[in-house]
Amino acid sequence: MEKINIGRPSPMKELPDELAAKIVNAVLEERCASEEGMRRYRPLLEERAHRIIARLVVDSGEDSGSNNDLPVQIHALLNLADTTVKDELNSHRYPKPACPDNGGCAMCCTHMRIVLSVQEAAVIARELLGLTEPEKAQIAHRLPSLGKSGPGSRCGLLDEQGLCTLYAARPINCRTYRSCSITACEDRVRLGRNAGEEVVFTYPFDDLVRKSFHHMVQPGGTPHFLEMNTFLASVLHDDEGLAAWASGEIPAEDDA
Ligand code: SF4
Ligand code: SF4
Repeated sequence: MEKINIGRPSPMKELPDELAAKIVNAVLEERCASEEGMRRYRPLLEERAHRIIARLVVDSGEDSGSNNDLPVQIHALLNLADTTVKDELNSHRYPKPACPDNGGCAMCCTHMRIVLSVQEAAVIARELLGLTEPEKAQIAHRLPSLGKSGPGSRCGLLDEQGLCTLYAARPINCRTYRSCSITACEDRVRLGRNAGEEVVFTYPFDDLVRKSFHHMVQPGGTPHFLEMNTFLASVLHDDEGLAAWASGEIPAEDDA
């Protein structure tokens, strides 16, 4: 299997204003089904985009030279994304999230398709490597009955108590997903995704944080994503592969 090193988070190639416009357009195209929705939400997104990009792309790009260990760099960027989300929520502009602070609601872990970039997979691999054999076996044991994460299944890292086994290493999608209404989450689980309501359903900054993060870890190209349970199954039965991922080496795109 051909191996390549994961590229380090890269500083910005575009000007902040250009990048902000690009990210805002991408969010609106994905999340708003109508011209009216786009017209309504554009100013809100544009207002937040500059601040988020300044923190996650410009500032972190300038700081990224201090550590060459990729999983550590990506982990630091994930933690920065956490702080950014927290600060946005604390800006008093938005209703408080309905998500309980100390767990107790894992509906999203049981119904969402969980995808992660190859760089985030390296962070997960590093944490998996630190688990005991029985802990790894427990995850491996539940995977065959789950298949891929998504509606009707669940993320393989969700344990029997409804807690995330690798919470500190969870991907950006899990860190940014917040809802101001449990009822809206229940409706989503019951009725499925409604793209036209997505911007209302969550907060206007979650996608901005996600896309800024992905711009940093996979600049320029279309992000390369893996499905969580498929990734877990592949590395939990392959000690050599797990060690390679954990050290910041990943298979070439066609093999991953
Ligand atoms: S996003 Fe919804 S389902 Fe997920 S923890 Fe928050 S309230 Fe629960
Ligand atoms: S990685 Fe953790 S937080 Fe994310 S879906 Fe899986 S169990 Fe939930």
